[in-house]
Amino acid sequence: MLRELINQYYLDKQRDREQRHFYVSDAGKCSRAIFFKFKKAPREEMEARILRLFDHGDYIHQLIMRPLLSMRGIHVVASEVNIPPQELIRGRADAVLSDGKDLYVLDIKSMNSMIFKSLTQPKEDHINQLQLYLHFLDPQKGILLYVNKDTQELKEFVVSYDAKRVQSLLNILKDLKIKIDANIIPQRIPEWPDNWQCKYCSFKEICKMSNGGEVNWEDFKKKIEAQS
Ligand code: SF4
Repeated sequence: MLRELINQYYLDKQRDREQRHFYVSDAGKCSRAIFFKFKKAPREEMEARILRLFDHGDYIHQLIMRPLLSMRGIHVVASEVNIPPQELIRGRADAVLSDGKDLYVLDIKSMNSMIFKSLTQPKEDHINQLQLYLHFLDPQKGILLYVNKDTQELKEFVVSYDAKRVQSLLNILKDLKIKIDANIIPQRIPEWPDNWQCKYCSFKEICKMSNGGEVNWEDFKKKIEAQS
């Protein structure tokens, strides 16, 4: 009984979610998938188990923050820091830290043992997110702190602000906003269907139904409705 009720709780929470703004986590991701999220296009339902794993990630963040908050060598200037309000994008960094000399944005990521062991450098999508935090929150350096969910081992990488990368990420989002407002579905990512994003994409079924280039959303919506 409890299992079904808990699963339902997570699934209902997911269904009610509507996207009206870009999030920092969208940076560098497939524009077509983000477009579909904005338009509430039909998607594969995520398993309740996966949604619970996201919550578990939040819990791990709290565990990491606890020692940082009581430490002498590092000062937590602020935790759960929202980027300043502006039109394009929303996001919340885990913390801003000071070592007495420099300020750092901290972003904590948790992962399973297999991925953790093979990690020799920060993941590109995590660097993208951190770069946007650095841009909007001002520090020139950030730390990506990876936590092995199974063993609690840690790895950290210091990343410097890269204005060129930020500009390119923001330009992609600005371009996508124009397409969302004009109802133009962006083209597929060039590595479709082998890119890791396609493998985990909840829109892969409808993505297959259109061609790889830009498509008019209103026409495509009719096609989806006719097939359902
Ligand atoms: S299947 Fe791949 S190309 Fe298509 S929307 Fe998803 S991530 Fe983008």
